Amino acid sequence: MLSLMPFFAMLMVFHLAWGVPAAQRTGRQAKLDKLRREYRGIYWDTAADPNECTDEQFDILAEAVRVAVNEVTPLAANHKRRLESSAFNRFFIRPEEPGIDRKWIMNNYPEFEFLEIMGAMDSILMFPKIGKKDRNGEYGRRRQIKYKCKPWTSHPCVGKTAAKTSAPYIDPEEGWSTVFCPTFFEQYKHIKELGNGQRRSPSALPLLNAYEHVIIHEWMHANIASGRYNSSHITDVQGNLPGERGPVAIYGATRSHQFAWVKARNVYPTSVNPRVAVNADNYAWYFTNEWFAQRWNWKDDGRNLALDAGEIEDLDQIRLQ
Ligand SMILES: [Zn+2]
Repeated sequence: MLSLMPFFAMLMVFHLAWGVPAAQRTGRQAKLDKLRREYRGIYWDTAADPNECTDEQFDILAEAVRVAVNEVTPLAANHKRRLESSAFNRFFIRPEEPGIDRKWIMNNYPEFEFLEIMGAMDSILMFPKIGKKDRNGEYGRRRQIKYKCKPWTSHPCVGKTAAKTSAPYIDPEEGWSTVFCPTFFEQYKHIKELGNGQRRSPSALPLLNAYEHVIIHEWMHANIASGRYNSSHITDVQGNLPGERGPVAIYGATRSHQFAWVKARNVYPTSVNPRVAVNADNYAWYFTNEWFAQRWNWKDDGRNLALDAGEIEDLDQIRLQ
């Protein structure tokens, strides 16, 4: 019987190569079955429908989730390493950072927001893979995040929006639901593809737009994934930054870094910024920074994020909602 295997394999290849619809459907179904088993926190059925996501879009989502779950978020698994990292320092300020008068942990008593940050990261490390069972022990739709490629009334793709997550209270029919907009598929790349390119310094972070970054950003918004049931929802914060007139959206690596350090520079007493605990992009950039720091062996301390000369971050063009 073993000798027949290559023959069957060849048949499969022919079917796929010739684009026979039946084979295509079988391929999608096999992928869907695998994704359902491996990532129980995500409701994949909608994205697996050819009328919703193209083959390419479906594959991009599946691969980005796989890499985010298995290769990006695990970099934060060790708490000691997480808190000592330059990535944490850049986007949250590490607990031991010198020169900060009001730290996350004072006299062994951690700030509430610090515990929230740690809890949300721990939750993201577990949820996509393990999911959450309901009372009957089922991984029901209500406790999953639905993935879509077409805009919907409750989560439209306006302007250059890359992705948008809506909550069950906004649209009970859709529950937790994320739409990935054309901008996502057009303007982003797999983190590994970016990492295989020319080695960059931390100052290039704002330009490293990875699918996995968007995936993680949107997980932070979904209370079911970030573990924020009864506490503050993780949102896209509007904040005041030096040199800006009035509050701005805290998106992008530059603004997320500035926001974390806004009370730690040029003020007295210097302090961490508790509001980073509820800003999605601070989390997403922390994880993205960890991955590239590993990939390119960065040794900086995370205190700076000056843009490379001539490079402009297109902050208001690409939005993650
Ligand atoms: Zn957002």
